[in-house]
Amino acid sequence: MIAVQTVLTRLLTHPVFILAMIVALFFGAAWLTPGTVAILGFLMLNIMLAQSMNLLTGIAGQISLGHAGFYGMGAYASGILMKTAGLPFIVTVPAAGLIGALTGWLLSIPAGRVREFYLAMMTLAFGLIFREIVREWDDLTGGAVGLSGVPSTTLRTLKVLGFSLDALDYFRLVLVVTAIVMWLVHNFIQSHYGRAFYAIHASEVAAGCLGIPRGGTKRMAYTLAAGMAGLAGGLYAHMIGYLGPESFDLARSIEVLVTTVVGGLGSMAGQILSAIVFTFLPEKLQVFAQYQFIVYGLILAFSLILLPRGLAGLLLLPPRFIRPASLRQATADGVAIRPVEPGTGAGLSVDHVTMRFGGLTAVDDVSLELRPGRITALIGPNGSGKSTLVNVISGIYRPAAGTVRFFGEAITGLRDDAIASAGLLRTFQDPRLVPRFTVRENLLLGAHRRYRTGLVSAALSLPAAAREEATFLSTVDAVTKMAGIADVADRPLESLPYGYRRLVEVGRALLAEPRAILLDEPAAGLSEAEMALLARLIRAMKDAGLMVLLIEHHMDFVAELVDDVVVLDSGRVIYHGDIQGMRRSPAVIEAYLGTPETAHA
Ligand code: ADP
Ligand code: MG
Repeated sequence: MIAVQTVLTRLLTHPVFILAMIVALFFGAAWLTPGTVAILGFLMLNIMLAQSMNLLTGIAGQISLGHAGFYGMGAYASGILMKTAGLPFIVTVPAAGLIGALTGWLLSIPAGRVREFYLAMMTLAFGLIFREIVREWDDLTGGAVGLSGVPSTTLRTLKVLGFSLDALDYFRLVLVVTAIVMWLVHNFIQSHYGRAFYAIHASEVAAGCLGIPRGGTKRMAYTLAAGMAGLAGGLYAHMIGYLGPESFDLARSIEVLVTTVVGGLGSMAGQILSAIVFTFLPEKLQVFAQYQFIVYGLILAFSLILLPRGLAGLLLLPPRFIRPASLRQATADGVAIRPVEPGTGAGLSVDHVTMRFGGLTAVDDVSLELRPGRITALIGPNGSGKSTLVNVISGIYRPAAGTVRFFGEAITGLRDDAIASAGLLRTFQDPRLVPRFTVRENLLLGAHRRYRTGLVSAALSLPAAAREEATFLSTVDAVTKMAGIADVADRPLESLPYGYRRLVEVGRALLAEPRAILLDEPAAGLSEAEMALLARLIRAMKDAGLMVLLIEHHMDFVAELVDDVVVLDSGRVIYHGDIQGMRRSPAVIEAYLGTPETAHA
């Protein structure tokens, strides 16, 4: 099976094959019947819609139940702008895309504060309202009767840049536009933007702690996806010359979603396969027209049970999220941890921080300080508030009282991504990585905050974008070597044992070039050999001048590394000093270490 998948993937995603297909369709269409050319035109639009849904749902993990609404916005916008306002094609079709994008952006404004469910409901409501407005606003849209007489190839009334286009010409135009859009999306997905979409999909909290803003990233996903759907709608309007509200109802939105799921969420090639199936299938299923919801429901149910990763999961290898060209450009002279400038002020200081959950005071008036080039251990029994303190410092929780300062500036109450962007990174007690990403892709995610490549540069895959990516890939190589995970760099994380995940998570934080790093039980679940690798990493961080906070239970591991120790019990600091003193402290012995004998064991 793997062999079949490998061959198919190599073939279907090979640039030469793709180009050959486009050329074959472009010229070959002249020999096809008008009916077939029309269906191929719809196929292009369905591909664009499926890719749009895939970008939003498959990549970014957001759901749209109103895709037909974005599509319809584009279609009516271009139709009305041309028919009524007399604007030319090269204005109205891009305008359709922009209007779709604007709608997607408006709907996703609350994205930073609400859960996916809420946005999914917003898109559902939008889709339903859009259809009602189209039906009611007779003057503009033609209402339930529809809008006819839109300049189109069917009516032989469409002019583009002064040329009158027939159905064949128009198909070719749609083919080229679709191919260009696919190319841009493909580049986008294999850039740090696309990987950020996937990071939000896997864990918003973890993404935020790498400096990836959840609100902005989701808004970008909705905006781009809705823009693509709007563009497809604009092209649709001039294909048939008639627009009716029934083409943009809930059933159409569901159809797009089903196409995407069946194709395989996350796979661009899968979307094309699925769009082919769903463009040609309805012709054969005409008899079931009145049962379309049932048919789609059954297809969806069967595909989820039999093909959890869709057609792509069955036929193709998993997609990758780094451009091969950038990989080839990476050099062997990357530096895993660059020495940091000491900076001014006191490093990281936590002053009288208190955090409550309802009646429980998880962190009670805690003060501590981290300094460049020093490792501070934070220890204490389970439930003593260690992780909660890290969550407060990294901006996940807002404390009830107290201040956290980073190089003298108060960061209390800032968003997690803003804190990460300032160079304060953390890892999680339960590793939070992207399971489908390889080790290398996960590590590269850490560099997100350091990218300067803009959206346009990424989508066009300009040389500067590839160069920047190659620089970070060189650092990734150095980090995988130092962390002892170089031999699994191209393995998907979900296929690796637990110990690797911890090392990958620590490595990922290093890619962000932190000035301070908070490690929440990084050694839990590691073998002796892996612990030695981790210790080497932590020492290298210290040598490079980072501030390190290490939460750890293995006393031998801690003793070898740390400069300072802070012990928590029930949210309070019960000891602050060096490790020898901690071992003699009666309070620590009673709360945490047990009898003095076991403490020394
Ligand atoms: P540690 O990391 O030291 O084991 P935690 O910081 O995870 O401890 O937990 C400290 C206390 O706060 C525990 O009693 C825990 O149950 C509670 N706690 C932690 N997170 C939450 C939360 N999100 N909601 C309610 N209680 C919490
Ligand atoms: Mg904890």
